[in-house]
Amino acid sequence: MKRVGIVGGGQLARMLALAGHPLAIQCDVLDPAPDPSAATVLRRQFAGGFEDRAALEALADDCDVVTFDFENVTAQPLAHLAARVPVRPPTRALAIAQDRLQEKNYIAGLGIPVAPFMAIDAQPQLELACERLGLPLLVKTRRLGYDGKGQWRIDSLADCEAVTQALAGTPAIAEAWVPFERELSIIGVRAADGQTRYYPLTQNCHDHGVLAFSVAPAPRGEALQAQAEAIAKMLLDSLEYVGVLAIELFERDGRLIVNEIAPRVHNSGHWTIEGAHCSQFENHLRAVCDLPLGSTASRGASLMVNVLGRWPDRQRLLAVPGLHLHDYCKAERAGRKIGHLSLSADCRSKLWAQGRQMLQLAGLEHLSASLERALA
Ligand code: AMP
Repeated sequence: MKRVGIVGGGQLARMLALAGHPLAIQCDVLDPAPDPSAATVLRRQFAGGFEDRAALEALADDCDVVTFDFENVTAQPLAHLAARVPVRPPTRALAIAQDRLQEKNYIAGLGIPVAPFMAIDAQPQLELACERLGLPLLVKTRRLGYDGKGQWRIDSLADCEAVTQALAGTPAIAEAWVPFERELSIIGVRAADGQTRYYPLTQNCHDHGVLAFSVAPAPRGEALQAQAEAIAKMLLDSLEYVGVLAIELFERDGRLIVNEIAPRVHNSGHWTIEGAHCSQFENHLRAVCDLPLGSTASRGASLMVNVLGRWPDRQRLLAVPGLHLHDYCKAERAGRKIGHLSLSADCRSKLWAQGRQMLQLAGLEHLSASLERALA
């Protein structure tokens, strides 16, 4: 029996722990919250902050391998644990992914396309960025931004002052605006022996900066799959990565541009629980536990819809034929990801009727036209 220690006890840790049960892989987590999402499915919770060395060491001493469920864990105390147990994915990947400037430099350094960017520390640089990168542009804090938080759009030089004030000296980057056709992601997994596997490209629809739904495999994704896998392989191999890596992409004129990477299982891969032969959660556990990787092939077409803020009526949700409900056991709070719904069928067109119903029940009916396009 293997024991995996997860730093962070949110819904990703919860779904990792659930995927571990059939394989007799047991998960412990370290989380400062008294009752995190993963609490009910764990072997053991260690209460403590993510930089609490004693708590991290207690977790490591109880486990065969340590992993993490979000990227805002400080890399250094984790790197320290590597003397006790393997820490997978490597903390170098974590350090790169949690700083947008390092991330962009690293990805661009491998020759992978990213939006043109510049480091921003002060207002004159912001004005220079407008000149060099053109307008509109996006300003993002280097650290701790997620789901569109810590981001500002600049449409004219006149916006620079307000954004500089909002930043209040926080290091940031400016990025040229990419007029993309759609947002995609690829999820890859790498074993310690270098073997890699990739899920089919997923098409993602965001609402106010937060993922609303995903469709997989992405329509017309076959033509882009080799390009996406080549990008993922370069990143996985160069980082000597072990585990699941998610890469968010923009498609423009048949070309893929990397937006960002997440060194962990990812919201856009939740469809793999029912929609792929081996889920991203199971494959992450297999990789970090030195077990053979599972098949990443899809079982047909899948739709995943996030439940944000409030639970819709469960009676009505569960009456939708084929719907799977995942409740993260989190308190309801405006905008918070508290669960997801998924649906699979043998082809995309069969997802439409129930898919539209799912969007309606989840309060996302304003995205029906986007869903119709994504399923076309
Ligand atoms: P991020 O936090 O970097 O994932 O950005 C959140 C969302 O903002 C993305 O999912 C895109 O919809 C949008 N976005 C981010 N960067 C750019 C860009 N350079 N050009 C256009 N849209 C962007």
